[in-house]
Amino acid sequence: MTDSFFIRSCMEKVLAGGSITFEDAEGLLGTHDIMTLADCANTITRTFNGDTVDVEALVNAKSGRCPEDCSFCAQSSFYDTGIKKYPLLSKEELVKKAARAKEAGATSFCLVCAYRDPPEKDFQHICEAIKEIRSKLDIEVNVSMGFMTLSRARKLKELGVKRYNHNLEAAESYFSKICNTHDFSERVNTAKIVKEAGLQLCSGGIIGMGESPRQRIELAFSLASLYPEEVPVNILITREGTPLASLNPIEPLEAIKTIAAWRFIMPRTILKIAGGREVHLKHNDRLALKAGANGIITGGYLTTGGNTANNDIAMIKEIGLKP
Ligand code: SF4
Repeated sequence: MTDSFFIRSCMEKVLAGGSITFEDAEGLLGTHDIMTLADCANTITRTFNGDTVDVEALVNAKSGRCPEDCSFCAQSSFYDTGIKKYPLLSKEELVKKAARAKEAGATSFCLVCAYRDPPEKDFQHICEAIKEIRSKLDIEVNVSMGFMTLSRARKLKELGVKRYNHNLEAAESYFSKICNTHDFSERVNTAKIVKEAGLQLCSGGIIGMGESPRQRIELAFSLASLYPEEVPVNILITREGTPLASLNPIEPLEAIKTIAAWRFIMPRTILKIAGGREVHLKHNDRLALKAGANGIITGGYLTTGGNTANNDIAMIKEIGLKP
């Protein structure tokens, strides 16, 4: 079977409502026919998700001093990475940042805090900020603050939070290489709690951390089993001071092939190109949005800068999609 025929047959399976196998997905990721792969991933995206690109802004509401040792993370207290560390922002600052994101054209706003899990006082503070944002602004509020209990997740749901982010980060078979202070099953557990509370789940991972292509597929199947409404794909930006600082970056086309193959595995999710888009993909981010991705983070990330929302929105329109 030629690559092109194989890729199209996988697409037909997905378009007909079926699923591809692990071996199919490995075959897709291993193809040299990138244009057919991108084209078919795009057809799946447009068929199930239309022409809209989800544009989300993040605020790093509490930076650094996380007690976990995730080896990619500039916010871990295990590593000296030179980032600006600060405690939880005031309610006023958080509302102001949400208003700025709305003005810039973002449709959703994600409040991110570097915690294993927040102390009760901080959790209440964040709840107050969410209440205020929801009462003053017409913007979707999403949250990411580490491990969740069911009662906390239910409280967020009551406050009108739409989506909770908790990434699986890496394949289960690779997880112990990147984190030793918690394990993969704890991450899966929080993802399940989020769903049980009726929140939408945003859960993705990071590619380019030294994992094998097979492990990238393994991660996608683990994510798919949780039925996430959104899957952020981060491309590792190495940070001085972290154990992964000297890794060679993943090739841009390899990253795009990964996004495309993940689209076959998760045809209906918002597949969002997240951290590393500007650094690794540069103008290839246009190709990624025509090769399976249908979401972006705009205006910078937790500890690195990014494109402005105006530029991103102009880019989305230029390629014939809708922000
Ligand atoms: S738990 Fe989150 S914030 Fe903490 S070190 Fe890991 S990735 Fe970073």
